Order: sequence, then structure tokens, then C-alpha cells
Amino acid sequence: LVTRQSQEELLRVFSERKYTDSKGVTRDVSLVVVSLSPQPTLSLAARYNLSPEETTSKLVGYLKSLGADLVLDMTIAEDLSVLEAQREFMRRLREQQADPAARALPMLASSCPGWVCYAEKTHGNFILPYISTTKSPQQIMGSLVKQVLARNKQLNPAEIYHVTFMPCYDKKLEASREDFYNDLLSCHDVDCVITAIELEQMLEANSKPLADVDSAPLDWPWGAPPSPPPAPGPAPPQGPGLRRHVGSGSGGYADQIFLYAAEQLFGESDAPLVYKNLRNPDFREATLERGGAEVLRFGVANGFRNIQNLVQKLKRGKSPYHYVEVMACPAGCLNGGAQTRPVSGESGRDLVARLESLYSSLPLASPSHNRLLRRLYADWLDGEDSDKARATLHTTYHAVEKSDIALNIKW
Ligand code: SF4
Repeated sequence: LVTRQSQEELLRVFSERKYTDSKGVTRDVSLVVVSLSPQPTLSLAARYNLSPEETTSKLVGYLKSLGADLVLDMTIAEDLSVLEAQREFMRRLREQQADPAARALPMLASSCPGWVCYAEKTHGNFILPYISTTKSPQQIMGSLVKQVLARNKQLNPAEIYHVTFMPCYDKKLEASREDFYNDLLSCHDVDCVITAIELEQMLEANSKPLADVDSAPLDWPWGAPPSPPPAPGPAPPQGPGLRRHVGSGSGGYADQIFLYAAEQLFGESDAPLVYKNLRNPDFREATLERGGAEVLRFGVANGFRNIQNLVQKLKRGKSPYHYVEVMACPAGCLNGGAQTRPVSGESGRDLVARLESLYSSLPLASPSHNRLLRRLYADWLDGEDSDKARATLHTTYHAVEKSDIALNIKW
């Protein structure tokens, strides 16, 4: 894994146009695709004192100068992940209402592999039913690139080398999971994960500040978005570009799911969403009350201390939540383990605050108004809620038994 997903491997693929896959097969590369996620891009923006837009175009220029054929933003995958997670939440809510013994709620977010690996190894079969099956944006982007892009370009998916730009090393573990090896296509959805800190090292190895790199625009291989239905009000942005979602830049979607549920359940499009801190700012909750009763309670638990607390509550049957956004890093992905470090006396918390402010300057994404998604559901996934959509956009988890751990150690 270390050599397979390193900057050395990436540079080798750029120059040799070959890679060795997880099964040991050497493959020719026809297309190198790099997908940018917002958090590490903002990390470099803070590091080099550039705006998010400048950083994005400089990154595209830099990656293209190394040999990338296409550099994409991940908004489309994030929007798909949000829509699927919203629908999954409503499905689980109905299931729990129909059968109070069902372990459908609380739904626990799954886009953080640090948390998911911990849950699989430590709490096994008890916790897994609660974890959202919706794939993370990284893995949905992988499916888009290896399925939709490969089909559009009439390429063998295994000839596409897909790199994602991410905020932590745990995303490398996620990308290399067997669950994300596509047997039909004979390849992983994501072949290499590069982090903000690794990209900074690559730039520094060439003594090249990002500001001095030539800019280039993001690519957009998805075709023109379908025409909008006539509707009042400003149209949400379509086309390439990093976007933010409602809520913080943690990488989770609690706010989005909360507001969607309030709208579905009570027809309210602007339900109040106010968090109150519990033990600390990384463990907080928001509630919605109707008719004097609490109807929704959402939590955010970041960092392992708070996660352990949450799991203990669940085990004692004392979790009051319908949904919890669980992220292993305190403050979530903006504070990921492979983001660039604070410089010139700035504290970690100050840097996260600066990243949060950069995140809030991004244009707001509106997943339900992303017109491209309607076409993807129709043309690629056989419609919303179809078997193909569930098979493509959802995954499963596996308890790691004590005997497996022992076996691994023995070997
Ligand atoms: Fe990675 Fe941390 Fe984000 Fe989890 S919270 S996905 S470990 S950066």
C-alpha cells in the first residue's frame, strides 16, 4: 500500500504510463484522471495564501504539467453522496418507526474511513447495522470515473489511472478495500490517493511555490447539463468548480440530511438548525421540535474520545439520536492528518478556523438542483432507488473477528 499509493508511484505512472494493480498485474495507462476534493485544496490555499479558485486552477496547471490528462472537481460525487444519504436516512426512519426493534437508527455517517475501520475492528457486528451504507464521495467519484467516464471515452476502465486528492492517509486504506475492487471491470475505483502534505512535498522538491505555477481550468467531461425547468429565483451554479454544502467543511453532511428530513416530514424548507455543544465543541447536537415534542435529534461526534462516548451510549441503549455525523479527526476533514501544518506560530485551531472561512467562501452546492444528477440517475443508474443505484452507490462493512486479527498477526 505504501509504495502503491505514494507520490513516487504517481510520478512513475506519469512518466511511464504504466501501473501495477492490486492483483500484481501491470497495466498500460491511457488516461490519468485526478479528482480534487475541497478540504486538501483549501489546505494548500491557506498554505500558499491563495484564494480557493486560484489554488484550484494552479493545482490543475501543476498536475497537467506532470502528465495528468484530466483534472476534475468532486462536486458531482459529493452531491450524489448527499442525495443517497438523505434517501437512506428516510428509509431507515420509516423502518425504525415500523419496527422499534430494528437497528436502523441512529444512522451513523460512513464517509470517514478512520471511523469505519475502527468500528469494524473494535465493535464488529454490534455497530455495523447503524453505519450508513452510502459510499463516500471518494468512492462514488471512483465509480463515475471507471464506469461513466470510461464508457464516454470508450476506454477499458483498467487503463484509466484514477488519483484522488484527499485530506488524510486513511483515504488510501479506503481506496484499497476489496469492496471497492470491481470484479466486472477488473480494477479498483481509485488507484492512488495523494494528500495535501504530499503535494506540498512534491512542490517543495521542485522549489516551486504554487503561486508560480501556470494556471489551467478544471476539466468537465460530463457533457452539458440538461436545460433547467423554468423556475423562479437564481439558478444554482452548474458545471465545474469546488462547492460547499450546507454546514461546516467537516466532510460530513449532517446539516444537509437534517434539513431534508425536516422538509420531507413537515414540509419545512427552512427548519431552524442550531447546534449546542455537549462535552466539547467536537460533540454537539441539534434538535427539531414540533407540537412540544422532539421529532429529530442529530449529533456530531468528532475525534476518538467523543466516538467512544457515543458507542458506549449506543451499547447501553441510551443514544437519543436519529443521525450522528461521526468523523475521526477533531473538527473533521479540514483538520485531517495529512493536511499541511500550521506555519508561523499559528495554532492548529486557528488554521482550522481559517480553512472553515475559506470553505464558507465557496459557492453553495444544491444537490437536489444539480441537473446533471438527474441525467446520471436516468442514463447510468436505471433511475433513483433502482437496484443498480443501490449496487453502485452503496457498500457493505465487515466485522473483523478476533481470530482474523490473530491470523493477520501470525502471518
Ligand atoms: Fe480522514 Fe479525518 Fe476526514 Fe476521517 S475525519 S476522512 S480520518 S480527514
